[in-house]
Formats: sequence, C-alpha cells, structure tokens
Amino acid sequence: MARELTREEKRAIRALVTKWCANYDRECGCLPLDCECYMFGKCWTGAYCRYFREAVLPLDPALEVSLMTEGPRPDFKPCPICGGAVPADGRMAYCSESCARIALRRQKRDYMRKKRR
Ligand SMILES: [Zn+2]
Repeated sequence: MARELTREEKRAIRALVTKWCANYDRECGCLPLDCECYMFGKCWTGAYCRYFREAVLPLDPALEVSLMTEGPRPDFKPCPICGGAVPADGRMAYCSESCARIALRRQKRDYMRKKRR
C-alpha cells in the first residue's frame, strides 16, 4: 500500500538529492534524464529513482526506513549515538548493539569523572 509522502519527507528527499546525488546538477536537474529530478516530483511512496534508492537514500537511515516501509508511517526516533532509526516502541534505546555499547561506555566514563571530583 502506497501512502502519501509527508512534507518533511519531501523536504528531506530534496535536501538529500541536492546535496548527494551524483546525477543532480543545479542548472540542469537530473543529468542522465535531462530533466527535473524525478524524486522532486514524488508525492507517494514506492517506485523511487533507483540511483536515489541505492546510493543516496542510505545516507539518511531514518528517512530510508520510513520511505521503504509501506503502509502507515511507523514511529521512529533517532538513535542518540549515530542518528539511525530506532523503533519507538520503547524496547530499544539505540539502533544497534554497537551503539548501545558506545552509550554504556560514555555513561561509565561520565560516572567515573563525577566520582573523582
Ligand atoms: Zn545508532
């Protein structure tokens, strides 16, 4: 089931393309297609530009998750360590095992610092 893209998602797509897409040119738009970037006109999920999906979208993990998930927009919160997508159901505080470990290490370090004073 496709759904309409939110205003935030459209804005994020545009920002990603202008910043990262190797095929995008500020003057000409999409260079291989020789027209406005296909992704700028998207209003619904699904059928993304292949280059965008494979090379540009992964640069924004949270956006990738929300665009690649069909149906109602799932709730994600950003990982406090790397900014990746964490399901907001409260079971996990970080996106991955390694981020959780980094966070734990930081907590310990802060604790030790406070103790020393
Ligand atoms: Zn993370």
